[in-house]
Amino acid sequence: MAQVRLNHVYKRFGDVTVVKDFHLDIQDKEFLVLVGPSGCGKSTTLRMIAGLEEISEGELYIGDRLVNDVPPKDRDIAMVFQSYALYPHMNVYQNMAFGLKLRKFKKEEIDKRVREAARILDIEHLLDRKPKALSGGQRQRVALGRAIVREPQVFLMDEPLSNLDAKLRVQMRTEISKLHQRLETTVIYVTHDQTEAMTMGDRIVVMKDGVIQQAATPSEIYSNPANMFVAGFIGSPA
Ligand code: ADP
Ligand code: MG
Repeated sequence: MAQVRLNHVYKRFGDVTVVKDFHLDIQDKEFLVLVGPSGCGKSTTLRMIAGLEEISEGELYIGDRLVNDVPPKDRDIAMVFQSYALYPHMNVYQNMAFGLKLRKFKKEEIDKRVREAARILDIEHLLDRKPKALSGGQRQRVALGRAIVREPQVFLMDEPLSNLDAKLRVQMRTEISKLHQRLETTVIYVTHDQTEAMTMGDRIVVMKDGVIQQAATPSEIYSNPANMFVAGFIGSPA
């Protein structure tokens, strides 16, 4: 069964249609990458899945549930943004615990989940620190930790590495891939970086002007690009 299904989804802002007839099934445990140039509609698509933008037309299913009108907190998803948006006045532990507190989890359960996530992400020694005392990579791990503790069915990530320097970006790619395997969840990962898409995705969706150009595995896209745009964008011989 598809974990996330977008059935002919459109997004309009006033007269402008920024996502057009987006039609895709994302499978359970798949690592799906949405890639395309700036402004092509990647974040808007992700925000519709998260419930942060209304869908103008079409249906969105998570599992077998139609979620068009389900508020974000009741969708079984967690989102990691480009800007870490950690709470500066809270330490790492509190930052990771906050979302669970809001959802009225018991203290013992919160503690268990935060410590387990900290162990997985290798940030156990940082739990007492405030965000300003962390490096960029450490902050990114905390941001991932906040999502992990929710134990969602689906992770949404919007350019989570774009604020990191090149070396750290490459390292975190590997870490996120490992994390995906370890947690056995579905990931929908947005990037404008072709290399990131090609190295991380089980499957890649290439978008341009709000329209899917091709949805296929990295090797299929590389060896058989659907059109000139895909060939040029991915950098394969057309
Ligand atoms: P991407 O993430 O691929 O860079 P976005 O999804 O952020 O692209 O944006 C797609 C298009 O929708 C852009 O042209 C952008 O200006 C427009 N857009 C995004 N959000 C809004 C909004 N709230 N109101 C009007 N236009 C928007
Ligand atoms: Mg974006």
